[in-house]
Amino acid sequence: MTSASKFDYDLSGIDRIDGIPTVGQTLTFQRQLATIQTSYTCKYEHAGAHGWSWIMCDDAHWLAKRGITNVVATPTEPGPYTGSTHTHKFKYQLDVKNYDEYKEHLRNSLKAFATCFTEGLFIDLETDGQIIGYSPMQIYTHIKTNFLLPRDISREITKTRSDLKVAYNPDDIVQIYYKSIQTSKLTLAALGDPVTDVEIMRCAFETFEVQSDLKEACREWDRQAAPPTWARMMVHFSIEIQRNRTDPSKLKLQGEANAVLKQVEQQEEKQRLQSECMVAQTDTINRLQEQLTAVQYEQQANGAASVNGSLPGRIPALISTGLTQESMEAMFKKWTATQAAGAPATDRMTGKERKKKKFGVNFIENDLPNAERSKRRYPNSTNYCSSHGYDISPDHDSSNCKKRNANHNEAATITNMLGGVTTNCFHHNA
Ligand SMILES: [Zn+2]
Repeated sequence: MTSASKFDYDLSGIDRIDGIPTVGQTLTFQRQLATIQTSYTCKYEHAGAHGWSWIMCDDAHWLAKRGITNVVATPTEPGPYTGSTHTHKFKYQLDVKNYDEYKEHLRNSLKAFATCFTEGLFIDLETDGQIIGYSPMQIYTHIKTNFLLPRDISREITKTRSDLKVAYNPDDIVQIYYKSIQTSKLTLAALGDPVTDVEIMRCAFETFEVQSDLKEACREWDRQAAPPTWARMMVHFSIEIQRNRTDPSKLKLQGEANAVLKQVEQQEEKQRLQSECMVAQTDTINRLQEQLTAVQYEQQANGAASVNGSLPGRIPALISTGLTQESMEAMFKKWTATQAAGAPATDRMTGKERKKKKFGVNFIENDLPNAERSKRRYPNSTNYCSSHGYDISPDHDSSNCKKRNANHNEAATITNMLGGVTTNCFHHNA
């Protein structure tokens, strides 16, 4: 039994991660844990307004936080008391108290890892089932190096970099825009690809530049003599935006600009509907053509038997035999009439019918629970997909899957499923 703790982290705000974590899940965990750590005041130098969240940050990530210019030195154990004055004694007591708190935060952070990640994920780091002797940051690094694919990380970096260019919505207060930029900045730092304030200022400027009512504010920003900083830029545009909101002449201009924008949007919506309509029409035409081909084929086969006296079912050498333009049109009319009369529709196939059509008479149904089947649909395929399991098409696997579930892992194979689904896997080596 460990000594009673002064406080415990409330882990209800942290998502549990099942199986191998993805980059997104790992970042979310770090963010959620940092939120808890930030809520406790930290007395160590340079911790600033961010509490104990430095425990879960490497230097680049920490220095990206607002108002932070220095790293927090790793606390050291105060050791036995050697002072002689009251002042010494007071300082020593404070050191001991701070160090105890530090230990407590380490313990709570490790508990967060143990609670939120799947058991066994840290097996390499464990001694007697406990993660001992590692800092939270070392464990986090262990996750990053052992489970996250470099390709997934670079994809996340690309996505977050494009999030930096998110448009500022004039209907929101500008602080919402600043916050999303700040979040991207922290995420990029956590991913090991920190972004500079100069880049952030460039993105923000490009966003503000296209706002008709911020033209003047942009020019003014360009004209200033002092070297620009992101902190000053935020204040500058914040004030300008607030000024515009209360300026009647600007409001009128903005109203007109918005009216034009609305018209453009309506036009776009109209075009979108039109193109959707065209897609639906093309679909119907394609289906009709398929039906017509089938009817023609049948007619040719039957006609051949009577006209040529050849074997029934044979396709005649001459396509035109026994089939005239008129008879085809008549058949087509008859077919469209039955369709219209509400005869059993053959043009709207269910998923099962579509599969039957694709696989023919050999279609193997999922005759077992949980979408599994007792007979193999692709007996010659040894492919495996993290989201779809085994017995899948030979051109489908974890790396190219088009319908991935949340825990999809691109590296998963039938011999190393990495927490992927087990659907139909019993067929492997069966
Ligand atoms: Zn798949």
